[in-house]
Amino acid sequence: MEKTFDKIVAHAKKTGFVFQGSEIYGGLSNTWDFGPYGVLLKDNIKRAWQKKFIQEDPNNVEIQAAILMNPKVWEASGHLKGFSDPLMDCKNCKTRHRADHLIEEFSHGEESGEGWTNEQMETYIKENNIACPDCGSHDFTPIRQFNLMFKTFMGTLEDSKSTVYLRPETAQGMFVDFKNVQRAYRKKVPFGIGQIGKSFRNEITPGNFIFRTREFEQMEMEFFCKPGEDDEWFTYWRQFCMDWILKLGGNKENLRFRDHTQEELSFYSKATTDIEYKFPWGWGELWGIANRTDYDLTQHQNTSGKDMTYQDPNTNEKYIPYVVEPAVGVERLFFMFFTDAYDEETLENGETRVIMHFNPILAPVKAAILPLNKDYNDLAEEIRKDFSQYFETVKDLSGSIGKRYRRQDEVGTPFCITIDEQSIIDQTYTIRDRDTMQQERLTLEEIKKKIIEAIKF
Ligand code: ATP
Repeated sequence: MEKTFDKIVAHAKKTGFVFQGSEIYGGLSNTWDFGPYGVLLKDNIKRAWQKKFIQEDPNNVEIQAAILMNPKVWEASGHLKGFSDPLMDCKNCKTRHRADHLIEEFSHGEESGEGWTNEQMETYIKENNIACPDCGSHDFTPIRQFNLMFKTFMGTLEDSKSTVYLRPETAQGMFVDFKNVQRAYRKKVPFGIGQIGKSFRNEITPGNFIFRTREFEQMEMEFFCKPGEDDEWFTYWRQFCMDWILKLGGNKENLRFRDHTQEELSFYSKATTDIEYKFPWGWGELWGIANRTDYDLTQHQNTSGKDMTYQDPNTNEKYIPYVVEPAVGVERLFFMFFTDAYDEETLENGETRVIMHFNPILAPVKAAILPLNKDYNDLAEEIRKDFSQYFETVKDLSGSIGKRYRRQDEVGTPFCITIDEQSIIDQTYTIRDRDTMQQERLTLEEIKKKIIEAIKF
């Protein structure tokens, strides 16, 4: 069974995980709304991150910084000057393209274009006679750098003094609040500050469904450590991220580390590794882990004039900490887990049924209560009410039991509980496992315990 891009997207839309944004107005290009199941899946991904990166780690804490930040932040971070992509227009059909993406697609991922100068990219495109993907002509403008930050105005005046930017990453919030958090919570280096929140980038070529959008959610952590200990922490977090994905059921065969070459590295980065996933169109970045050195804190110290050094309480040594940053997009993880979970089965009547094999931890709904006849409706409602205090539970009364099972399989509900005649006599219920389709009879307490155990992370 081939998991094509079209199949995955069609299933996400059909089952109401994702809708086109502003659909009744013809949509707004590359914006997506997450339906109830989509929100549940996203929330489960975020909770799983929060649990392992923050809650269970004694060193790490979480913040929520404002999306709108003083523009000086973006001056210090280098985003105002340098956060741009190489843009080329096709003179023939007027479409816009990222030069590095043209190169990447042409070379089937052998060349990334990252770290190249504009001249290098222009030469490569000319020498290889790369065509416009939309019209096939070979008539591009020279490269212009296009800043990816969304601009807006704060207050009633629309002038340069009131210009503010929607944050293109959550990371700067952690750098700006480094001292506040360190002092108020008496944190000792090494420690991490994490954040989950929206980021905005005016991408030149968004696309591939929710893989690249202009509005997305990030989960980032800045881990502050002593210079000299950074390499070790980089190795630690790189593996930690991969293990996190695997524990949640990510398929090992579709995942790999890709270390950035010296040429590709940002000028401030000592090392960067991407965890890549084999998306339906090929390998793509899922998670970036970077050793950002002391670049950001130094920049903020220089621009704000505020001291960003840390004094070791034992040795009195003063230094600006180094930072290791694992940064991931919630929607990319969503796409990955959704693709990995997708499976088809051909039924005896020749129909195809889709089963989503989500790990129970991530499954939007954990249990469906299916009474075999309407007389058991009140009892079903009682059970739903009780179970939903502990985990997401639905009740489904309509259609044959086979249809109802199928409906739950399509959205990846790991457990279906049926109420039948025997339930009334001996208070046992049938619990069916989505993946093995095996059924057993248990009491409600046993069922609850089994489900709680299956969603423990
Ligand atoms: P890319 O090379 O794909 O543009 P990037 O290297 O610029 O990504 P980072 O700045 O490292 O990305 O951002 C960290 C993470 O945020 C990425 O690994 C990805 O998961 C997510 N991300 C970045 N840009 C987008 C986007 N436009 N849409 C959805 N997720 C994104």
